[in-house]
Amino acid sequence: MSDTPADTPAETKPSFRGDVTVELLKHSASDTDVLWAARVSTAGEQSLEEVSKDPERSKGLINFLMRDRHGSPFEHNSMTFFISAPIFVFREFMRHRVGWCVAGDTEITLESESGTLSRRTIADLHRLWHLDAGDRPQQVRCYDEETLTARRARIVDVIESGVKPLIRIVTAAGRALRATVDHAVLTPDGWRKAGELTTGDAVLAEATERNAAPDVIVSIADDGEEMTYDLSVEGPWHNFLADGIVVHNSYNEESGRYRNLQPVFYVPAEDRKLVQQGRPGKYEFVPGSAAQQELTGRAMRDSYLQAYEAYQRMLAEGVAREVARAVLPVGLFSSMYATCNARSLMHFLGLRTQHEQAKVPSFPQREIEMVGERMEEHWAKLMPLTHAAFNANGRIAP
Ligand SMILES: Cc1cc2nc3c(=O)[nH]c(=O)nc-3n(C[C@H](O)[C@H](O)[C@H](O)COP(=O)(O)OP(=O)(O)OC[C@H]3O[C@@H](n4cnc5c(N)ncnc54)[C@H](O)[C@@H]3O)c2cc1C
Repeated sequence: MSDTPADTPAETKPSFRGDVTVELLKHSASDTDVLWAARVSTAGEQSLEEVSKDPERSKGLINFLMRDRHGSPFEHNSMTFFISAPIFVFREFMRHRVGWCVAGDTEITLESESGTLSRRTIADLHRLWHLDAGDRPQQVRCYDEETLTARRARIVDVIESGVKPLIRIVTAAGRALRATVDHAVLTPDGWRKAGELTTGDAVLAEATERNAAPDVIVSIADDGEEMTYDLSVEGPWHNFLADGIVVHNSYNEESGRYRNLQPVFYVPAEDRKLVQQGRPGKYEFVPGSAAQQELTGRAMRDSYLQAYEAYQRMLAEGVAREVARAVLPVGLFSSMYATCNARSLMHFLGLRTQHEQAKVPSFPQREIEMVGERMEEHWAKLMPLTHAAFNANGRIAP
């Protein structure tokens, strides 16, 4: 559903839509990834041979892992989605600490407004942002990924991501990064997952005062399990320095500070059920009358147009975007990149979709469910055996 009023200039013409967009941008994910990860415990290096075998033969193993909740073999894969949805969907989405993470003792390079650099551990930053009252650091050093020159980015959030297995990457210059295998690290060949790197590969690290330069890896080893963290930083460059090495953050959302927000607003499509019946914890949605449908569409459009007109007026008078955006509603469309592995995605789907095979029912908001359903369609094509085992075992993430 999409329509646009005709009497406004093209670049600022509000439009309305009732659907969401989910594109699979890149992936390294197959059922075989689960098999080699599971078999390494008994077959050692021979498990690499699994990659070339027919995964159908190992359907039983995948089902066993899912049923008995052996979760880590489902983490050795990665999917990056581009999602376009109303802001209220992202507010719910960001509660899922899925994605790439580093260990708590990882030192993050902060940069003050005057350009002074300092370091704090990411566990400390998390404490300052979420547990202690008082000053919390606001900006990190990041890099322009094309020129490798230093930039500054504002921290959006510091996220605790749960206990996860880590690897330790040591470089020739003596840097040591402890990260999950799926954390993206910047290399001279672009972004690569930490777990894909080998000795002799280079990562990009802080070099001179203003530039990043290659630093060769001299060792990589498993490094136990512990609490991990991630930073979300504003664009256009969504990276930061972790122990001096340039790494990526897991969620990148469109910034309302650096660009004019496009006037695309959410109005429920006709099949969106509008009326909730029942009590909290036991309710259902029903379509609603024609009058309720008409009122919802009209009230939303009127209010969006009024809010956007106020936003435009402030921008025209020179008010900063980061101030003017306060009038915009949560029905405004935004977009983001989200990266996750199959284990995290299954957890997300278990909570954010309703399904007849789910052993534990959930009651998600329909709009985030629409995003989840589209992510699931992409994932099911990449990992059909894992997807089937997820359904067969009640859609409970291992
Ligand atoms: C239907 C529905 C209604 C909701 N309503 C509300 C609401 O009214 N208000 C509200 O505030 N939120 C609400 N939420 C959000 C909800 O409370 C969770 O924050 C969100 O679903 C993310 O779940 P998660 O923490 O399990 O996921 P993730 O953050 O992706 O974590 C995955 C798993 O990793 C482990 N983990 C991650 N971090 C830690 C940690 N720090 N310590 C220990 N284990 C960890 C846990 O096992 C966790 O289940 C709602 C969610 C749903 C699905």
